Amino acid sequence: MKCVFCGSNDSKVVDSRYLKDTAIRRRRECVKCGKRFTTYETVETNPMVVTNVYNEREPFKIEKLTESLRYATYCRDDIDVNDLADRVEKLLLGLNSQDISTHDIVKVAVDCLMELDTISALVYYTQHTDCNSFDDVRKFINQ
Ligand SMILES: [Zn+2]
Repeated sequence: MKCVFCGSNDSKVVDSRYLKDTAIRRRRECVKCGKRFTTYETVETNPMVVTNVYNEREPFKIEKLTESLRYATYCRDDIDVNDLADRVEKLLLGLNSQDISTHDIVKVAVDCLMELDTISALVYYTQHTDCNSFDDVRKFINQ
């Protein structure tokens, strides 16, 4: 990191502080002129692109996921949907692919919901797949 005062490339970190979970503020001191300046380090978030069932691509939106999870868990107000959406997003990011499909989201969301409430998982599943018969529901249960 170049010193903003003298242009020297030599600086040392004198203090680091986390800002939330995603950024670090570093206080640096130039080795040459001794002046101090601050830098911020943030994680570059990799925007995921979702291919839906109509083969259209759209950016992943956590708000949309949160809404669908809120709908699926409407009879369980003890479930924190924002927390749940964060978890689903984290797992999707863990797939290490920028291109994901609606199918990936449904799979991860259903897995997470299953740990909390089977009925909510089933509601989500029926809303986001072509599941429309009792046979389909039975397949889901047997999964
Ligand atoms: Zn300097």
